Amino acid sequence: MGLIVQKFGGSSVANTERVMNVAKIVTDTYKKGNDVVVVVSAQGDTTDDLIAKAKEISSHNSKREMDMLMAAGEQISIALLAMAIEELGCPAISLLGWQAGFRTNSVYSAARIKKVEANRIRTELDNRKIVVVAGFQGINKYQDMTTLGRGGSDTSAVAIAAALNADRCQIFTDVDGVYTADPRKVKDARRLEEITYDEMLELATLGAQVLNNRSVEMAKKYNVELEVISSLNPIPGTIVKETTKMEKMLVRGVTKDKDVSRISIVGVEDVPGIAFKIFSQLAKHNINVDIILQSVGRDGTKDIAFTVSTANEEEAVECVKSLPFIGGAKVVSDNSVAKVSVVGAGMETHPGTASKMFEALYGKGINIQMISTSEIKISVLIDEDDADKAVSAVHDAFFGND
Ligand code: ASP
Ligand code: MG
Repeated sequence: MGLIVQKFGGSSVANTERVMNVAKIVTDTYKKGNDVVVVVSAQGDTTDDLIAKAKEISSHNSKREMDMLMAAGEQISIALLAMAIEELGCPAISLLGWQAGFRTNSVYSAARIKKVEANRIRTELDNRKIVVVAGFQGINKYQDMTTLGRGGSDTSAVAIAAALNADRCQIFTDVDGVYTADPRKVKDARRLEEITYDEMLELATLGAQVLNNRSVEMAKKYNVELEVISSLNPIPGTIVKETTKMEKMLVRGVTKDKDVSRISIVGVEDVPGIAFKIFSQLAKHNINVDIILQSVGRDGTKDIAFTVSTANEEEAVECVKSLPFIGGAKVVSDNSVAKVSVVGAGMETHPGTASKMFEALYGKGINIQMISTSEIKISVLIDEDDADKAVSAVHDAFFGND
């Protein structure tokens, strides 16, 4: 018995049957004597549909109104789930983000949670209610609705688990855990019993779509143990925590991310301060930069290339072009690229991980355009059309026939 936070993503509540399925899982947990807080996302493609509706009006709608709109999706699912729970005979109450105490900063559509004032949730739990909270949303200092960025409900769940000091935080989804590669694409992919926060963070950031990366960051910060588990087949899933007892695997997973664009600046003046000015300009526009490559200078000029998420491509190009010293340099962007990465805390102490990955790519005739590494990951930028082939080949190199 304890306090359990359970989060269900959009696909887990996509229709009435799924909502009833979730209500069953939640009430089973409650009937065992646990206090239960449930965090839900909008049903199915609701958020995408809302965004599409807004785009019919304009491509540059006010960010405040976009958040007001997007937050509506979760309002539907919390009400329906609360009804479904009551239908199964347990008391429930739904709360929007602001009612649940989510205070955020004012960066619309990418707001950060400042704190969760959880007294309302606590009061409802004390009354033996199952509390159903809208994920992905909060309220800023102007009392306006904010959203946390796509996939933000995972972060809502972790924030509640941290604020309430919950005994467990379960992230229910449509896969039954974290795999060594996308099991829908790589047939030998294996489910992991455990993974560290750092490894999960890399995998999440690099495109494994199981957990939102900010949620993992927050779980690590507040030491909230996460369980990634299937809502359709709730057998024990993958545990995400600080250290794993399992023998260190060299590589924990292989991922791909197609949501990448490369911006190249060709022939910029080779003097001090150029990189600083370019990247501080991008930072001012809240554009996150990933892999950066700078060429050796020649004839007084050099080339700089970097990657951003495709949503930021246009803005990044404009940003760079607006810099006075760009002058005659050519600024070009390309979104037909993908990033393939291997992640594993074990590689820190094992030389040869990179060469093994590159060999696998070479074996399939795949050209590497950019490389970046850290202690626990290696990423390469390749042609988008090669991405699936690359993941299979690299996965096979590390996990094949043993
Ligand atoms: N409904 C939001 C989205 O689609 C938040 C979430 O699903 O976590 O991004
Ligand atoms: Mg999600």
